[in-house]
This record gives sequence, structure tokens and C-alpha cells, in this order.
Amino acid sequence: MSADQTPAWGGAAPCWGSPATETPWSLKDVMSEELAQQLDKEEQEQHMQDLNARKGDIIDIDKLVDMAPGETCSDYMLAQMLQHEFDREHDAFLDKEEQHWNGSSKVKISFKNYRSVHPKIQEDEVEDEEEIWEDDYKDDPVPLFNKSGISGKGKNIITKHDPQITERRNVRRMEQFPPEFDTGDSRRMNVHLPNHVYNRLKRHSVEETKRSQRLHEKKEYSTTDMALDAKTRLILYKLVNGGTLESVEGVISSGKESVVFHGTGGSMNNALVPDECAIKVFKTTLSTFKNRCDYIRGDVRFMKDEFKKQNPRIIIKIWAEKELANLKKMENCGIPCPKAVVLKKNVLVMEFIGQDQKPAPKLRNASLSAAELECAYEQCINNMRQMYEKCNLVHADLSAYNMLWHNDILYFIDVAQGVDTMHPHAKEFLLRDCSNVSEFFKSAGVHDVKNKYALFNDITGLNLVGEGKEFLSQIEEYKKSEEMLRMDKGKAYPFDYFFEKEMKEREDKHKKQQHLFDESSSEDEASDPDTMLRKEALNPETEEKICLSLKLGTTETAEEPDCQQDCDDE
Ligand code: ADP
Ligand code: MN
Repeated sequence: MSADQTPAWGGAAPCWGSPATETPWSLKDVMSEELAQQLDKEEQEQHMQDLNARKGDIIDIDKLVDMAPGETCSDYMLAQMLQHEFDREHDAFLDKEEQHWNGSSKVKISFKNYRSVHPKIQEDEVEDEEEIWEDDYKDDPVPLFNKSGISGKGKNIITKHDPQITERRNVRRMEQFPPEFDTGDSRRMNVHLPNHVYNRLKRHSVEETKRSQRLHEKKEYSTTDMALDAKTRLILYKLVNGGTLESVEGVISSGKESVVFHGTGGSMNNALVPDECAIKVFKTTLSTFKNRCDYIRGDVRFMKDEFKKQNPRIIIKIWAEKELANLKKMENCGIPCPKAVVLKKNVLVMEFIGQDQKPAPKLRNASLSAAELECAYEQCINNMRQMYEKCNLVHADLSAYNMLWHNDILYFIDVAQGVDTMHPHAKEFLLRDCSNVSEFFKSAGVHDVKNKYALFNDITGLNLVGEGKEFLSQIEEYKKSEEMLRMDKGKAYPFDYFFEKEMKEREDKHKKQQHLFDESSSEDEASDPDTMLRKEALNPETEEKICLSLKLGTTETAEEPDCQQDCDDE
């Protein structure tokens, strides 16, 4: 990417040439008000530390004020507080003595050198006070304190540490908490806030702020409409920096599940990458997670251990892997589709279908002549058949939106949800695809469009009859016989089918058992744990099949319901 180009994913043009030495901050972080405040605070703390180092015994007054009695973290701090209090009293006494000695005399003596509290702290405290009391809201008049923090005379003498004043000051300070901290109109309600309550609230406020920052970070993990999260930006950065891509340009499409960019290809492993590439970034948001889970479950190719972890990033990665694997399979079988170039986590680089940065139109939007439509229909059916026969794949989301028309060729795209024909729902998915295809071409005016059932039979080579439920029940029957056939041939077997079957059998048995138990009064037998166990045991045939299925690398029995649970929770 040339230096003056702004990257498609927003923000300033990154310097692709320099290696990534540290995790980049997101723009959101850099612009964050909280971050600015935090840095400011750190700077102030540093400054205060420096000051302490220089002045030796200056006590961190903020810490002392913020800490309620009994809440100090150490005896040392407690001692310091007491000492500070004592020093102040001592200074107040000196002030009084000073006044006493000087009276109205023009020549005055000063006890300054005998003071214990450092003048710097006194100044700070006074400034602090002024800042706090500065407000348009006029509540009870605030007594004026002299430099030693004392107001009034004789019996009416009050210090600025007077509980009432402190409590009111705490209320004001509470109002300085971050805006999201709902304080209400505590002053007008005349709320009094003792130090220990104020300290708790303050702590809570800090925790809340941290928590919201964490949540905000979490949000940063997901890819929002067009903006990409930091990790995805890093992947794109590496692709460009490593030379696979020369540049990443404009957005071709931004949908619910992915953002597709146009990119200019570079080279990879000494091989040329297509001149124009489509870069599909799978969104890591969870909106369609459940949906994805259903497609991955039951596909033996993707039922490895990772799936157990239920981490959305991993699911997205598997999802992207699925698209890559399906594209490769299709390419090998000569089905027109984008050539897959490389996959990095949730970023899939593939050949761009189109020219000069102009993507090929979706079949839905391509204004084709009648002849072209006939041709597209032919190609579509042919592609579907090849996909089923040669690749053992069902697209599972085939529609006029996932087919591109380019140079008189119909390309199938968006194959992430494509399932193996062994998937327990493959046939239903196929019937849905057939329905979409038939309806589209029929409404587009193509002659002799097969209805979905005929198309289904054509693609699968089956001869199912009837329509609707009748057709579906034959699909069910066929699926069962197909599973058995596969078992006989010793092929891999979908885990889900056996799992569900076993569960159903157990449930039926349990019901029967319950029934028997209710009818007979023979308690002994029913409560005998051995009998129960024997009854609960797997039937040997199914057990054998599950073992085989496990050996083939599918998931474990115990994990399966969790997965369903998690998916449903989303
Ligand atoms: P989604 O899951 O978001 O629908 P798709 O794979 O269908 O993702 O891509 C979205 C859109 O991006 C497509 O409709 C198409 O217009 C465009 N697109 C995707 N892949 C390519 C490609 N290889 N070449 C050209 N355009 C593409
Ligand atoms: Mn699509």
C-alpha cells in the first residue's frame, strides 16, 4: 500500500514497512477520555513522588484524606495520620499564640519556624478547598477558614475537619465521579456522606470504571460494521507486510457475517497471488453464532477438540476454515468458484471475481438476457450436481445472492456453511437450496424449470415421490438407510446421528421402565442399582458404532449436550 493511501478499515495510514514491535492501540483507546485522565493522573502521581523525594517528609495528603479511620492499609500510615493530625493541632495552637502575642501591633512576631505542617501542604489544602466549594449551587453558607483551617472563635471554633463539613465536602466530591456513576441530586437532598461511606463509593466507582473498560475491550474484539478489531487489522497488516498482498483497498460488501475488501495481490511462497483479490473478514460478533454452531455440529470434518472450547474466535476460525476447505474442494472438482489463496485466522484471501476493482454482479442483480438466464440455469444445476457428486458437498445457503455472474460463467461463492453430504441435515439443506434456485429461475422467466423436488432427485439421483411431508419423511428414511450403508462400508460416521439415536433409545427405555415400575409393586428389582445400570447400558450395537465414531476423531459423548446448551444460550 502506498504511503498516501488511507486503509479501507479506517484510521490513519499505517506504516506497513515497520515491524510490529508492540500491540497497537486502537483508535478508540487513543482517543479515550479515560486514558487521557489516567495518564494525567499518573503524571501527577509521579510529580508528587518527585516532590516527596525532594522534600523528604511531606505526607501524601490525598491518601490521608481519602482513607477513613480504621481503613488504613498499614500501621505506618495510621501513625502518619495521627502525627499529621497532631501537627495540625500544634500549628493551630501556634496560630492562636501568634494572634495573642501580636494583637493589633504593627510589629509582629512569627512562629513560622516552629510549625510542623509543611507550608506546601497547607497551600494545597486551601487550594483544594477553594476548588471544591466553587459551585453555582448555593447551599448552607460555608465558614471561612483561616490558613490553619480554623473558623470561628472560642466555643464556636470549628476546623475544616468538622464532621458536618467533611460530609458535605464528600457529597461534592462524589459528584466528581465519572458521569456514568449515578449520584442523583445528593446535595439538594441534603445527603451527608461520612468518610467511610464516601471511600466505599469511590472504590466502587473506580471498579465500575475498570469494569466498563474491560467490557469495552471485549467489544473491541468483535468486528463491527466496517471497523475491524485490532487483531484483524494486525492480520491484514501482516498480509501486506509479508508481501502476500500489495494493498488492501475499498470495501466490496459489508454484511452481517463478513466484510469483504478488494485487495491487490502480491506473491506468496514464490508463487503469484491473483492480481485482484477478495479479502473476506469473518465477523467475530455472535449474532449468528447459534446458526453457525448448527452447521458445524455434525460435520465430521470439523468436530475436533477445538469445538469443545466454545470460544467465538475459535468458532469463527473453524467457520473460515470451512469456507477455505470447501472452496479448495470445489476448485479441485472444477466447479467455478473463487480460488482460495490463504487463510489467516478469520481472514480469507481469495481470487476476486470481477475486473478492475468492479465485482461481478450477484445473479440477483445481474440483468441477464433470456438466453443468458437459460445458460445460468444450466450451469447452476450442473454446479450443484457436481458439488454433490464429486465434492460430497451441499452449499446450504445457495441463492441468487451467493452466485456471481462473470464473463458468462456462474460462480458459486459464500460456501462457509457448506456441509458434507454426510451431515445429518444435508438433505434438508439441499432441498432448501433447490427451492431457492427453482423459485428464482422460475420467476426470472426461464422455461422448463424443475420444481424443487424434481431438482432434488436430479441432483441426488434418488427417486423420492410426492411433495411436502411425504417427501420429507422419505428423506428421513433414506438418511437412516444411508447411515447403515456407510457403516457397512466402514466409512466415517456422523457422531450426531448415533448420539441422538442413543439418547432417544435411552429415553424410550427409561419411559418403559418407569411405566413398569409404576405398574408393578416389586420395589426390590427397580431400586437395585445393578439392574438399573444394566438397563441404562448402551445397546452393544450402538456402543460399537459410537466407539468407531470416536476413533474417527469426532467429539466425546459428554461434551455434546454442553455444546447444544452453549449454542442455545447465545
Ligand atoms: P456473506 O457471508 O457476508 O454473505 P459473501 O461471501 O457472500 O459473504 O460475500 C459478500 C459479498 O461480497 C458477495 O455478495 C459478493 O458481492 C462479494 N464477494 C465475495 N467474495 C467475492 C469474490 N471472491 N469476488 C468478488 N466479490 C466477492
Ligand atoms: Mn453471501
